[in-house]
Amino acid sequence: ALQADNLHKAFGNIDVLKGVSLAARKHDVITIIGSSGSGKSTFLRCLNLLEMPDSGTLQVHGEELDLSKAAAGQADKALQRQIERTRAHLGMVFQQFNLWSHMTVLENVMLGPCCVLKRDKDEVEKQAKSLLDRVGMLEKCHMYPDQLSGGQKQRVAIARALAMEPDVILLDEPTSALDPELVSEVLLVIRELAKEGRTMIMVTHEMRFACDVSTHVIFLHQGKIAEQGPPEQLFNHPQSEHLQRFLSSQY
Ligand code: ATP
Ligand code: MG
Repeated sequence: ALQADNLHKAFGNIDVLKGVSLAARKHDVITIIGSSGSGKSTFLRCLNLLEMPDSGTLQVHGEELDLSKAAAGQADKALQRQIERTRAHLGMVFQQFNLWSHMTVLENVMLGPCCVLKRDKDEVEKQAKSLLDRVGMLEKCHMYPDQLSGGQKQRVAIARALAMEPDVILLDEPTSALDPELVSEVLLVIRELAKEGRTMIMVTHEMRFACDVSTHVIFLHQGKIAEQGPPEQLFNHPQSEHLQRFLSSQY
């Protein structure tokens, strides 16, 4: 569903990503772990081109993008359209929800399908309500984000991502802005998406959860993949000293 090869990204003279690759097949749940500043968010943002990588290739929905051309500011109209198509196949869930505060819950979920995909409004509304029902937020569909708890906001943000019918859902620490008692309601929704076979790439500090739901875990250290494999292997038999030290700092 998504393949990234040898992504590089620098901010000024700091190399944040030093050649990171990842292949997500359909139904994979890939978790990225690593200490603060290791480049996890930058990597996710590069995958959906919120941040333009300096070099590397990205393949989404069978379409391959040569990123060095885009990074060099040589994106012509065709490449620009390719970038937009790529983005449309990826859903993003942020740590800080990023809901539109002047729109109701329902309007937030309907915005993308109506305005970006230009789909029929009545049909979109029906689908949006069914998605809100699935995340347990249908009753509050006419409320505004400010009237919701963090956990509720994040469930709306997940419904909004699903409404675009993405190939892959990217989640960047979806629970780390939440009060502890609200974490589990959001993890439950994500767990159900995993059970449904949704393809997801997620950054999280919830190690036990990551161990449960992931098909593959990637440990980023200083902008490189230091270790990766099935969750049992990484969490129970970490090979590198960096990963051992990271895991012992997490519990
Ligand atoms: P955390 O666990 O704290 O979220 P992270 O692994 O997500 O950390 P990133 O946010 O990817 O880390 O940041 C990696 C490095 O890149 C950091 O040193 C950060 O300061 C730097 N960085 C990230 N975004 C920018 C930016 N827009 N401009 C300059 N430097 C940046
Ligand atoms: Mg981050």
